[in-house]
Amino acid sequence: MPGDHSPFSSSYAQARRKFLEAADAAGLRVETRPHPLPGLEGEPLAMDVARDGPPDAARLLILSSACHGVEGFCGSGVQVAALRDTAWRRRAADAGIAVLYVHALNPYGFSHIGRTTHENVDLNRNFHDFSQALPVNAAYREVHPLLVPPDWPPSQENEQAIARYLAEHGERAYQAAVSGGQYEYADGLFYGGRAPAWSNLAVREVLRTHGRRAGRIAWIDVHTGLGPSGVGERIFAGRDDAACLARARAWWGGPQGKGITSIYDGTSTSALLTGLMFTSIYDECPQAEYTGMALEYGTVPVMETFQALRAEQWLRRHPEVPREKADAIRKQVLAAFYTDTDAWREQVLGQAREALEQAADGLAA
Ligand SMILES: [Zn+2]
Repeated sequence: MPGDHSPFSSSYAQARRKFLEAADAAGLRVETRPHPLPGLEGEPLAMDVARDGPPDAARLLILSSACHGVEGFCGSGVQVAALRDTAWRRRAADAGIAVLYVHALNPYGFSHIGRTTHENVDLNRNFHDFSQALPVNAAYREVHPLLVPPDWPPSQENEQAIARYLAEHGERAYQAAVSGGQYEYADGLFYGGRAPAWSNLAVREVLRTHGRRAGRIAWIDVHTGLGPSGVGERIFAGRDDAACLARARAWWGGPQGKGITSIYDGTSTSALLTGLMFTSIYDECPQAEYTGMALEYGTVPVMETFQALRAEQWLRRHPEVPREKADAIRKQVLAAFYTDTDAWREQVLGQAREALEQAADGLAA
């Protein structure tokens, strides 16, 4: 694990301290939204927000971490590195851009080394109008009983049943069934919830506070766990809208625009999803021209990621297991969403820095 000088951390508490210290060193005030529950080591949890730039800036760039809890080990490092980067801060300021750092969208999952919120909600499936009918994921119904078996590690019988499903339907269909999001099984995987999660309400408040005076808003939300190791896939995060996608392609897509992938046309390693967090910007900041992406860094093969998430869910159902076994599962989950090598961290920071600069250029144009 990295040391104190690294922007990366080995716990939520350390990550939060580094974020607060970096904001303080940059002369920024931090707004804290306390979370109702304690962290894994009993520490307080919060969504912390630092704004670098005037409150009435016409252009706003949001950089957020830990939408999926444990993925914050990566995203927090990106944020701390940016806050410590005086050249980056000057560049954004010179372009008239305020940068909003939202640290730990889902602090509970970050601290407890899990992907979901304390409500067991996948925050990036939770942004629905809950007065309307929720999407039905029929394929999930079939795999749900297999995903979280009574024993962990799973029995041979269970592993064979999953292998049969994979052989019959293929890995892509399995991924879509599992990760597409579901609203029926509160104790299942990729559960989108039946009401807005704490983090959903908190981030909406942040957007209302900081986003209503900006004419143009860009949002980079850092994720991990999909795609080739160390490669930051730039996944378009906006409505299925040609103008918005064209902007994202021009800013982040490289010479041919192919550097941006989309869940709408099958170019992304991600399945087609609904209830995504970016939809909140249309609700809360309707005046703004919005452009956004998820920066999704690869770690391990997706089947390993799913195995870790199955273990995470099993642990949630069995809080009584010995500490040693729980720690081993948390270690497995962390390894699926964060690669603890200098090479991986350097790849992460280099690509993030490039994406930030491109966003600043795009917003300023
Ligand atoms: Zn994620």
